[in-house]
Amino acid sequence: MTTGIWILGDRLTIKQLSLQNNQAQKQQTPVIFIESSNYVQQRPYHQQKLVLVWSAMRHFAAELKADNWQVTYKIAADFITPLQDWIAANKITNLQITNPCDRPFLKLIKSLDLDCEITFLPDNHFLWNKDEFITWANSRQRLLMEDFYREGRKRFNILMDGKKPIGGKWNYDKDNRKPPKKNLQTPPSLSFEPDAITQEVIDWVKQEKFSHYGKIEPFNWAVTRQQSQQVLTYFIQESLPQFGTYQDAMIAGEYTMWHSLISPYLNLGLLEPMEVIDAVETAYYQQELPLNSVEGFIRQVMGWREYMHGIYHYQDENYSQNNWFDHHQPLPKFFWDASKTEMNCLRQTLTQVEETAYGHHIQRLMVLSNFALIAGISPQEIENWFHSAFIDAYDWVMQTNVIGMGQFADGGVLASKPYAASANYINKMSDYCGNCQYKKSDRTGERACPFNFFYWDFLHRHRDRLQSLGRMNLVLSHFKRISETELEQISSLAQKWWENQPLS
Ligand code: SF4
Repeated sequence: MTTGIWILGDRLTIKQLSLQNNQAQKQQTPVIFIESSNYVQQRPYHQQKLVLVWSAMRHFAAELKADNWQVTYKIAADFITPLQDWIAANKITNLQITNPCDRPFLKLIKSLDLDCEITFLPDNHFLWNKDEFITWANSRQRLLMEDFYREGRKRFNILMDGKKPIGGKWNYDKDNRKPPKKNLQTPPSLSFEPDAITQEVIDWVKQEKFSHYGKIEPFNWAVTRQQSQQVLTYFIQESLPQFGTYQDAMIAGEYTMWHSLISPYLNLGLLEPMEVIDAVETAYYQQELPLNSVEGFIRQVMGWREYMHGIYHYQDENYSQNNWFDHHQPLPKFFWDASKTEMNCLRQTLTQVEETAYGHHIQRLMVLSNFALIAGISPQEIENWFHSAFIDAYDWVMQTNVIGMGQFADGGVLASKPYAASANYINKMSDYCGNCQYKKSDRTGERACPFNFFYWDFLHRHRDRLQSLGRMNLVLSHFKRISETELEQISSLAQKWWENQPLS
C-alpha cells in the first residue's frame, strides 16, 4: 500500500494528522498541493486573498520539501487531472486528506473519480472537535455563545482561579465599548514586503485576471508560520493592552486600530488557536495587562471562533438557504465599488476592504451587515459578497457569521435578536457621520440618513415577527411616538432609494 497526502489550502500545518502519522516515512510519502484556477473563479475573490492562500501554500510546500517530504506542487485548471496523474505516477493506493472544514469542498472531493481509496482524517485544528460540540449542544436547551465560552474556559483552564473566573467575572464587555476619542494614537500594523515567491504569485494573479475585485498591492500580509508568529507577538506587545477598550470603535482612515489581524493565519492553519490563547494568557500574568483586553480577545478565539465552527457543523447544509425575514433585494453595486456610494460609513469601510481585504468585527457587523439587513438584501447575496471580499473568509466562517449573526436569517439559532441599528449607533462608535452628506439625526426629509429610514422601515415591516422575539419590545415601543404619516414617508424613502440604486 502506498499512502499519498493531499494538503488542502487552508490546512498549512505540520500538526495535521496526515503529516504527523507519516512523519517517520516522509521521504517515501508523496505529498501534493494543487492550485486550481477554475475553483477560485466560482466567486470574485479579493485579489489579496488569492495571493495570500497561494503564497502561503507555496511557502509551506517549500518548507516540507526542505524537510525531505516528497512534494509535488501543481498549478492547474482543476483538481482532478493533477490528482489522477500523481496517483498513477506514484502508484498511490490510499489518499489521506484532512477532513475539509467547508461542506462544499468535502462534496467536491467526494465527487472526484480517483483510482484509489480516500481516507479523511479528523481536523485537529480546533479546540472542540465536531463530536464534542454536538455533545455539548445536545445537552443544552439554548445554544448561547456565552454558555459555550464559559464551558471552554473551564474545560481548558484559561483565565481561571480554581472554579471561578479570574477577576470574578466571565465577561468584561461593558468596559470594551468605548467610543473613539479624538487624537487616539494607534500602533502601525506589522507589514511584510513580498518575497520572491509572493511576488511571483502577485504577478500570476495580475496576469491571469482571476478576479477584478480589490487592490492587489500593496500586499502586506504574512505568508508563513514564522511571520504569523511575529504578528502574534507584535499584537501582544503593541496592541493588546489597549485592544479591549476601543475594540468596537471605528475611525476613518484607521484600518486596523488595536486589532490583532491574526484571523487569516488561524484560518489557514499557520497559527494554532491554543498557542494564541496561551501566549495571550501568559502575557496577562507576566505583564499585568488589563483583564478587559485579555478576556475580550480570548473570548473572540476561544468563544466566537470555536462556537461558529461548532454551529456550522451542528446545522445541516440547508442552513445556508435560511431567510427568516424573506429578504430578496439584490446587492447594490457599491459593495463592489466603494466610490459609488455617498454614505460615508459605507464608503470608508468598503474602501478599506478594497484596499486590504480586511475590516474589523464592528465594521463588518454594524456597518456592512447591518445595512444589508435593514435594507432587506438577500442573505445569500450578502453572504457571497462577504465570502468573496474578506481575507479570512471561508464557508464555515461566513455561513454562521453572516447568515446567522449578521442577517438573523436562521431565526435565532445563533443570536437572540437581530443586530439592527440606525445612524445613532454608527455616530456613537465612529467619526464617519461628521463628514457625510446625509443627516445622522433625520429619518425623513431630503437628506435623511438611509440607515435611519431603513432601520425604521425594517422594524415596521417585521413588527409582528420581531414582537415574537420578546427582546425587541423596548425598541418597538418607540412606534407609539411615530405617526402614520411619518411611517408612510419612511416607507416611501426606502422604496425610492431602491428605485435609484444601480445593482450588481
Ligand atoms: Fe452613515 Fe448615515 Fe452616518 Fe452618513 S449619516 S455616515 S450614512 S450613518
